[in-house]
Amino acid sequence: MRTKTLPDLDPQRLKGTIVLLRVDLNVPLADGAVADDTRIEAALPTIRYLTSHGARVIALSHLGRPKGAPVPELSMAPVAVRLGELLGAPVSFTDAVRGEGLASAAGRIRDGEVLVAENTRFDPGETTNDPELAADWASLAGIYVNDAFGTAHRAHASTVGAAARIKAAGGEAVAGILMERELRFLGDALDAPSRPFVAILGGAKISGKIDVVDALLDRVDRLLIGGAMANTFFLALGLDVGDSLVEADRTDLAADVLARGGDKILLPVDCVVGVAIDAEAETRVVPRDRVSGRDKIGDIGPDSLKLFRSEIAGAGTLVWNGPMGVFEMAPFAAGTLGVAHAVAAAADAGTVAVLGGGDSAAAAHMAGVTERLTHVSTGGGASLELLAGKDLPGVTSLTRIEGE
Ligand code: ADP
Ligand code: MG
Repeated sequence: MRTKTLPDLDPQRLKGTIVLLRVDLNVPLADGAVADDTRIEAALPTIRYLTSHGARVIALSHLGRPKGAPVPELSMAPVAVRLGELLGAPVSFTDAVRGEGLASAAGRIRDGEVLVAENTRFDPGETTNDPELAADWASLAGIYVNDAFGTAHRAHASTVGAAARIKAAGGEAVAGILMERELRFLGDALDAPSRPFVAILGGAKISGKIDVVDALLDRVDRLLIGGAMANTFFLALGLDVGDSLVEADRTDLAADVLARGGDKILLPVDCVVGVAIDAEAETRVVPRDRVSGRDKIGDIGPDSLKLFRSEIAGAGTLVWNGPMGVFEMAPFAAGTLGVAHAVAAAADAGTVAVLGGGDSAAAAHMAGVTERLTHVSTGGGASLELLAGKDLPGVTSLTRIEGE
């Protein structure tokens, strides 16, 4: 069984049909204009597919966190303008989220045109998955497309309620092109990995990623752990982490993971430490059993990088989430950038290399390797949930194709 996707639909059905599209246009704004187009660009393939087949598109997205009431600075109006420029096709905007205003604007969309509705989170019913709001949206369209992977782990009216109602009324609810890609790469990486399957985990905390650690531990051949997350594992080994960021209350958890994972797990063998984590910090490289006192671990050391590199180079499939250190500060960036280059080199040589996580994606960008990776997920929380083997409500609410 798999999720039905937009290309699975007969394109003839799109002509002249109103399509309700949940899309991720949650872009950063500055001075009332779009400051970064990345997410709009990412949404274009699905929107183009729909408009080129003559669909009439109602685009729904949230923007920021307006908490169920209108916030003028979080209006979708400037996003609609930018979308029109990038799409090169007519894009209109309505300040209605629902009701009469939205319905009448929808009635004016012509074939191949897009209407951007106002910020879905201006309505309190969005995040509570209010049935009336979902019914209101569902009444406008016979086809629902979800391309907003980044919010697929949330059961909201625009991600779950509207899809369920359109399906219940005999319509279709399908995954957009971006969503399909995310599911394919993150899903396939886990379900049918080329071996050895190597996962690299890092970042600030073990607590937010324990489900991912758990799920990956059973599937991977090697689990490389860096970042502040490794510090909790050091505690579990009885090592001193000095004044480093650590979750001491998760030490038992880390010990349990080590016991279960055995020699699948590779921890850093050396660390870059400073008395402060800042851009001018003076640093030292020390073996992991020589950290003490005021030392703050800010990165994995060069021997660890070497060790990780050799595992990365031999991998059939790589999944990477979480930086190896505080890569935002130059003195602590080498480990993360080194891993980024190693992952890209493996991808060049044919390894399936999938990256998830907002900060990790920023690190790959900093290293200049983004284009070389097999797939960089656009969803933070959603990609972690998938990696943890969980179902995403925004995906399970879509139409399924039996027997495939
Ligand atoms: P992602 O967004 O890719 O999932 P996380 O949000 O889990 O990654 O973690 C990223 C953050 O972890 C970065 O801001 C980085 O500075 C921080 N970090 C990594 N290693 C350390 C460390 N040793 N000490 C403090 N912070 C760290
Ligand atoms: Mg993050």
